[in-house]
This record gives sequence, structure tokens and C-alpha cells, in this order.
Amino acid sequence: MASTDRTAAPEPGFRASSRLKELMAEHFTGVDRAAREKSAPVAWCTSVGPVELLRALGFQVFFPENHGALLGASRVAGEVMGRAHAIGYSPDICSYLTSDIGAYLARKTPLSRYGLSAAPRPDLLLYSTNQCREVRDWFEFYGREWSVPVVGVTSFRDLGEVEDSHVDAITRQLEALVPALEAVAGRRLDPAALELAVERSRTCSDLWRQCLEASAARPAPLTFFDATIQMGPAVVLRGTAEACDYYRLLAAELAERVAAGRGALPRERFRLYWDGMPIWGRLRDLASLFAGLETSVVASTYCNSWVFDALDPRDPLRSMARASLELFIARAEGPKQRYLERMSRQFQVDGLVFHDARTCPNNSNVRFGLAQRLRRTSRVPVLVLDGDLNDLRCFSDEQARTNIEAFVEQLEDAGPAAAGGGHP
Ligand code: SF4
Repeated sequence: MASTDRTAAPEPGFRASSRLKELMAEHFTGVDRAAREKSAPVAWCTSVGPVELLRALGFQVFFPENHGALLGASRVAGEVMGRAHAIGYSPDICSYLTSDIGAYLARKTPLSRYGLSAAPRPDLLLYSTNQCREVRDWFEFYGREWSVPVVGVTSFRDLGEVEDSHVDAITRQLEALVPALEAVAGRRLDPAALELAVERSRTCSDLWRQCLEASAARPAPLTFFDATIQMGPAVVLRGTAEACDYYRLLAAELAERVAAGRGALPRERFRLYWDGMPIWGRLRDLASLFAGLETSVVASTYCNSWVFDALDPRDPLRSMARASLELFIARAEGPKQRYLERMSRQFQVDGLVFHDARTCPNNSNVRFGLAQRLRRTSRVPVLVLDGDLNDLRCFSDEQARTNIEAFVEQLEDAGPAAAGGGHP
């Protein structure tokens, strides 16, 4: 989607974004400095892994999936994935993994814009398979490469109800991790420090949720495409005071926009929900295409993945275990369907877009009939876009544009939507 005929400039950006840029730069340079100067232990953590343990033990934390997203958005991914394929990592597996390992092998990184020559080298890698098994294989590559410990939680997946027995099992795994983390950190885990980290994660989660929920307003002040940028601190600074401060700033600005009736787009005729991964290398093009169609993508499963309602500083480990299991990606089709029905109503969407990402079956939710069931239960039109998070060979610009334009025409034919959908 190199260009589109029907494009429109979104409204001017957020005032908070200048702080966002500083914060992200401070994060990357801070972890890099710690890795080079050995001034603090450095860990890599999966994006919805148990980061609070690392914060409490004084680790500087780097998130390779965030690096994967940067590789996709900067389109460096396309140049480097082949290096990982050449050493046996299939083109069919997670293209974050192949982008990141390819970038390591090719000695390239979009973090060069922050003065880094490579992703910071860790003393330990910590994963949770609550999202997918791929993260473990990804981290084990680096564990072998650098002879550093790879530890983690082997989680449940496809859960219907989250039962106490599931939470107990994950809590025990978290407890069992502590000695390995303490050994690398060179200090004992202070329970008060863990409570503080969980409290900050919960505050960050609540504020991020508040920001996302601002788009329940008409017009929506924040689109999915804005949120994929604004979510940076919720991903890489969860458990810190800085992330909380940032979302206080953003939430206040969004509240101002809502009070003034200012939407993210100059005009909002239709409202859509996005399920699945972003298509990082086409974010800007897709944002412009939807804006040109006066269609606001007002909410997404993806950006809500960093909302952890179960976190509770009074019961840190157990609440971390529960939060990790309640995530959408770790759930069965029934809870996923109920979640999407609730979100469709809350955000008053006229249609749902499912991105079927070729290399991420874990976060593609149209492969077991969910879209068809939602069409029946919510009576909301559904569009399925074939693509990928980072591998743009799986994405056709022309086909996506044609399908999106046809979908919006279908909404036009159906007329203005009632709250919560309502199209036959
Ligand atoms: S959830 Fe998907 S995109 Fe994320 S690491 Fe796993 S396979 Fe890759």
C-alpha cells in the first residue's frame, strides 16, 4: 500500500508525544548503558511476561517484541529476515522472531536512531509462554549464543474459565523463578519492592485502559493507529513511575479532546474494531486510507493486551499469575467471542476487521469460525484482511485497499449504524 487515492491527514498529533519520544529514547539508552557499563543487570522479557519481578530486583529490561515491531515499522525486517531463514528458522514462524534474529545476524537495528549499534546484550532472558511457544524458542537462540540463563513460565493456553488451580500452578512457577533471578541480580527479592512494582504496573494498566476507553466517545479522540504508537510505555516501562506519569498526561489530553468534541479524524462516519496484530510496515498507509474513508478504527484487541485488571499489590505473585492467564491471547474461543461482543457494544462499532497474520496464528482469530459466529451474534459486518505483522510478502496493498474500500461501501449501503452495530 505504497500510496492511496483516498487519503486524508489525521488531526494534528498529541502534545504528550514530545514526552513520549523522550521517554522511549531514555528507555533504550538506559538499557544500553547498563549493558555496556555493567552498572545494572539487564534482562530481556516477553511483552506480557512477569516483568514486575525484574523491576523489583533492579534489572534494566529490554523487550524484544518491541524491537520486532520497530524492525517491522522501519521495514528493516524485510532486509534481514532471510538471515534467520537461512539458519533454519522457517518463513512460516513468527516474523518478529525471524526479524529480530535476522537483525542480530546482519548487525542491523532501527535502534541506531537512539545511538545503539545493537539490541542491548542481556544477563538473563525471561519468558512466559502465555502468548505463544515461539517466545521461548526465540530466547533460547540468544541463550545459546551468549551462554546466559533462559528462564520462564510454561503457561496454560486456550483457557475457558481461569480456575484457581491454573492460578496456583503459575504462582508456583513464578516462586520457583525467584532464586535464578536473584542469582543474576546479586540481591534478594524485597517483598516491598515487588509490591511497588505490581502497584505501578496496575496503575499503568488502569491509566492505559482509561486512554483507550476515551475512544468510546463519538468522535473517537484516539485511533488504533495512534494507540500502537502511544502504547510504547505500557509495553516497555510497565512497573515504573515514568509510565504512570506519561499516561496521566495522555489521559488528560484525551479528556480535553473528548470535552471539546475533537476526534482523531477530521470527520468520523464509521467506527471499526481491529482484531489481531498490526501490520507494522503499513501502519501509516492504512491510517491514511481509513482516514480518507472517514472511518475511525476506534479500538483493538492488540492495544488492550497491556490492560491487566487482576494485578493487586496486596497479593503480588498470585495476581501476576492471574493477570497473565486472563489475557485474551491465552483464552479459548468462548471467552474471546464474549470479549469481542462486549468491546463492539462498548465502542459502538459498525464493523470488525480481523487481521489474519500469516506468521502469528496465536494472535489471528479467524481460523476457527469466530468471525462467522460474531456476524450472527453481534450482527456486525466483518472484514478479514490477509497480511502479516512484519513479513510484507504476505500482504497485498492492492487487495487490502480494494477490500477495505468495498467494506466501507457496504457500511454506506447499510446506512448509519445504531449503537453497538445493528447491520444485518
Ligand atoms: S504472539 Fe505472535 S507475534 Fe507475538 S511473539 Fe508470539 S508468534 Fe510472535
